[in-house]
Amino acid sequence: MLSTKNSSPLKLPNDCLYCKTVFREKDIDLIDQVNGNSVYHLTCHKCGVSFIFHLVLSKDGVLSIGAVTDAGKEDLEKLKRGENVTADDVISAYLETKKVGPNK
Ligand SMILES: [Zn+2]
Repeated sequence: MLSTKNSSPLKLPNDCLYCKTVFREKDIDLIDQVNGNSVYHLTCHKCGVSFIFHLVLSKDGVLSIGAVTDAGKEDLEKLKRGENVTADDVISAYLETKKVGPNK
């Protein structure tokens, strides 16, 4: 059964995708928020791997796009301060780094 609760749209993972350590509150940082879309930076306090999650509100609900990133939180904040970087720019930047795409 579909649930369309708008009150808590967050779909962040509860635990590290690598070591399954449960994220602590301080491991999760909100980097940017534009038009209801949010970019979160998560760093596992155990294995140190960082993830970026882009939560996009769509008519079908909340899409959660995640990837491992080499960029630290500071890098992202620097990027954000330097110019008007949108969430999409941040996502493009890390996708560029990881060279991941739908084409195989
Ligand atoms: Zn981990």
